[in-house]
Amino acid sequence: MAEILKGAPVAAALTDELAARCAALKARGIAPALAIIRVGERADDVAYERGAIKRCEKVGIAVRQYLLPADTKQDELLRAIDGINADEGIHGCLMFRPLPRHLDEREICEALDVSKDVDCMTERSLAGVFTGAGRGFAPCTAQSVMELLRHYGINPARKRAVVVGRSLVIGRPVAMLLLASNATVTVCHSRTNRLEEFTRGADIVVAALGRARALDEDYFEPGQIVIDVGINDAGDGTLVGDVDFDSVEPLVDAITPVPAGVGSVTTSVLCAHVIEAAERR
Ligand code: NAP
Repeated sequence: MAEILKGAPVAAALTDELAARCAALKARGIAPALAIIRVGERADDVAYERGAIKRCEKVGIAVRQYLLPADTKQDELLRAIDGINADEGIHGCLMFRPLPRHLDEREICEALDVSKDVDCMTERSLAGVFTGAGRGFAPCTAQSVMELLRHYGINPARKRAVVVGRSLVIGRPVAMLLLASNATVTVCHSRTNRLEEFTRGADIVVAALGRARALDEDYFEPGQIVIDVGINDAGDGTLVGDVDFDSVEPLVDAITPVPAGVGSVTTSVLCAHVIEAAERR
């Protein structure tokens, strides 16, 4: 039986620590604030936004919502970002992506001041993750993987880590964060031959491929730590990860559940980035 690495205790511990830091900032006259930009009414964006607002309330972060219609024009959105950049009272900005297709998402992302880029939407933030220069913030989901490992006392140093997935929002930044923690990292993707040989040889496997239950017991060995970042619709209205939890859990040492694993940590990491942005200021 594996240890189940649940996200809720990680989020709760982070929230307590952040509430104390937020109170200290307020005592110095700084009221941390997050801007949330949502274009349109996508159900998963609205659900995440609700969770983020609740978490911000617990920490003491003010939220300013910019709710724009799905047919918002490029220059209107750029003006909103300019306003956020210029507003000294706003310390971080979360914008839901993908944006509607008529918008030039890259131009809009790059318009954000990097010091307020709390979810790594600019290339300058991403460059900071890759260079380890200490500039910019990592994507919240990628950072959540690291917070989860830290909370459960799993030190990646000297371990073999295999990341399955190479997207710029999860796979690659997670690989860089693991590398910065002195793991020896291999990144696998859809063209990797004999994926199971890589995953079976790892101490830590991070699954971020976006394929429901794709990694079953054939991909794992006893003793491993499995972090499942995937969130997929199982087709029957339930959510499942990229790992086939039922067949893998009896085999490995530790595994994150889906839901209630990595996904439960992301809003706390978002708050951590806002508090840090306010402290840096
Ligand atoms: P993505 O952009 O679709 O990238 C998926 C990556 O997995 C790609 O690099 C792809 O390889 C690789 N891949 C696909 N099929 C594969 C296979 N059969 N074997 C090996 N590699 C394969 O997805 P993403 O945005 O990174 O998201 C990954 C998962 O995380 C999704 O399930 C998403 O819903 C979930 N997610 C979770 C959270 C959270 O808070 N927990 C947040 C965001 C997303 P190629 O590069 O070769 O195409």
